[in-house]
Amino acid sequence: RSKYPHQPVFLQAVEEMAYAVEPLFHDPINGDFYRKAFLYLTEPERMISFHVPWMDDKGVQHVNRGWRIEFSSALGPYKGGLRFHPTVNDGILKFLGFEQIFKNALTGLPLGGGKGETIISRVKNGIVFHFSPCTYIFATGGADFDPKGKSEAEIRRFCESFMTQLCRYVDAATDVPAGDIGVGGKEVGYMYGQYKLLSNKHGEGVLTGKSKLIGGLELRPEATGFGLVYMAKLAVEDKMKSTLKESRCAVSGSGNVAQYTCRMLINLGAKVVSISDSNGCLVFEDGMSNDDWERIIQAKQVERLRLGALENMSGVYHPGGSPWTLPDLMVDFAFPCATQNEIDGNGASLLISKGVKGVFEGANLPVTAEGQDVFRASPILYIPGKAANAGGVGLSGLEMSQNAGRTYWKRETVDIMLKEMMAGVYQQMKAAAGEDGSLEQGCNRAGFLKVAHALKELGWVY
Ligand code: NDP
Repeated sequence: RSKYPHQPVFLQAVEEMAYAVEPLFHDPINGDFYRKAFLYLTEPERMISFHVPWMDDKGVQHVNRGWRIEFSSALGPYKGGLRFHPTVNDGILKFLGFEQIFKNALTGLPLGGGKGETIISRVKNGIVFHFSPCTYIFATGGADFDPKGKSEAEIRRFCESFMTQLCRYVDAATDVPAGDIGVGGKEVGYMYGQYKLLSNKHGEGVLTGKSKLIGGLELRPEATGFGLVYMAKLAVEDKMKSTLKESRCAVSGSGNVAQYTCRMLINLGAKVVSISDSNGCLVFEDGMSNDDWERIIQAKQVERLRLGALENMSGVYHPGGSPWTLPDLMVDFAFPCATQNEIDGNGASLLISKGVKGVFEGANLPVTAEGQDVFRASPILYIPGKAANAGGVGLSGLEMSQNAGRTYWKRETVDIMLKEMMAGVYQQMKAAAGEDGSLEQGCNRAGFLKVAHALKELGWVY
């Protein structure tokens, strides 16, 4: 705390992990090693920071700051998202990187050739899966650039300038960035285009989240949201002996993760009762319809509109509202899919008072420390983003494999792999939780133990 007082969200992420892994420090054989491994992992291996000059449509030059934070290479090339948002700084990116070291460790990757120790190998629907513990580990990056209100040309020029700086630090065997808030398929495409021009390397999967036409994986845009709902479905069936069908599911955000969380919830017969953006919230008392969903996709993916500007929706718009603060919105399951710390202690207490049965994190660290305490003190199902939103980075890993193998996987094949991957993460989390532990603790412990043992084998922590 005294070393990084200016990075409160990073400290919050470290404390959340410490809460889960601290009991391991008392292990009579490995306790001292686990403590050292944990401290080792709190310092990123490398932090790269650079300027990003770009020109707006009026010919005026602006300069933003960009970062790439390479947290740990213990398990393979660095891998992780790029975020473009005005709130981005080194502390936010350190929180994202730290948090997701453990997420990546949970995500076994199908590698065809079975590189690394194969922990699951089975044949399903004629496809052979070889899941290795992990082949890459997290880095994260981005810029304090606000894409809102910028023209398409301004965004393209910014992406090109960003990659002009970043390209000297990334390649398919070293560091493979992807999207995050403010960086979707279009932005990834612009950065990939610039990388190709500068590097003359045209077959490399140096970025994931590309469109299918330029080497992207089927289902990658849907992966985080679909994976989140697959995991929620598993947990509800396993722990509550129930289903998501007809349940009232509140979703926050209306970006990539929220959009496909809604899609899969609707597919499974659940009622999506809300979505939001940073200006307000749309509430669908009778559930979001297919027409509503199509209109939202058009508005967000094509027209770059705010939710408040949408007309002819079956829902009611609440300016300044959030699904977590509306007193009358009844919720069975909550899917926070917007950003960090969106549910505070009051929001968590309100959800519990309304009888919420489960919280599944699509966003990274969407619940404050106070909110987490409220959920921990209740009997609800609570699955952190490290496990619940791992489908995105999991399929990014598959995109790397697809590019490296110069191959192409069909949508149905990728969907089966995604389901298997989420089931694998769920089983690891459940096993690490043990008889009495919560899924939250199991998730954090399972991820930590994998990375810690790799650090020992590499001789980096002793
Ligand atoms: P997008 O940029 O596509 O969407 C973000 C959404 O969250 C937008 O609707 C945005 O509204 C809203 N939002 C952002 N900041 C705030 C805020 N301060 N208050 C209220 N709403 C806000 O991002 P993604 O959907 O890709 O990412 C969402 C979350 O999921 C992030 O936490 C990200 O780290 C996490 N995640 C994403 C993955 C992916 O594959 N994309 C993978 C794993 C995790 P507005 O437009 O008004 O800003």
